[in-house]
Amino acid sequence: MHEAQFKIALTALLLVDAGVRLYYQRGRREFERVVIKHERREKFLIALFGLGLIPTFFYLLTPWIDTFRLPFPAGVRWLGAGIIFTGDFLFIWSHRALGRNWSPFLEIRKGHTLVIEGPYRFIRHPMYAAIFLIGTGVSLLSANWIVALSYMLPAISLYLIRVSDEEKMMTEQFGDEYREYMRMTGRLVPKLSILIDKNRT
Ligand code: SAH
Repeated sequence: MHEAQFKIALTALLLVDAGVRLYYQRGRREFERVVIKHERREKFLIALFGLGLIPTFFYLLTPWIDTFRLPFPAGVRWLGAGIIFTGDFLFIWSHRALGRNWSPFLEIRKGHTLVIEGPYRFIRHPMYAAIFLIGTGVSLLSANWIVALSYMLPAISLYLIRVSDEEKMMTEQFGDEYREYMRMTGRLVPKLSILIDKNRT
């Protein structure tokens, strides 16, 4: 019974993300793509991320990998649930803010606008931040090192390989507007100096 409660909690928390992705996927293809960067590499990285989720499904649905356990106390595992909950919130908030500008790939679509609202006011990559929060939570809640590594390694690779190319693409598209936006925001963590300045004025 013990492990089952963690599996049920993790299933519920991850279903939220699957639902959000399905919801925001709809209708997006209607808008023509005008810029596409590193298409094959990005498809490969996303496929790797998808493959990395397979052990999570095994963990949730079978007892096959239960032996790869990390000795976390129940408190740490529930803390993981809280971190996923926070990540889910950021994931939904980012999707809402980005709207039809969202894409799993590096691309610009017709009518693409630069979003600087919602979580994008503070950081440039809230969706990746959410993915890291969720991954950290999944690692703690599952307490399974196969699940943790197979989620986190592709996520970190995707981020490290993609992020500067994404910012380069956005700078090419939006020019000084994006450069100014970069000055005001951090990648994953808000720029404290800017936040303090904003409060002063
Ligand atoms: N890196 C962002 C978005 C991930 S989705 C995040 O972590 O929240 C990737 C796509 O979002 C890119 O192809 C780019 O077209 C688009 N994008 C990224 N930042 C954006 C912004 N501030 N405004 C509009 N579109 C953005």
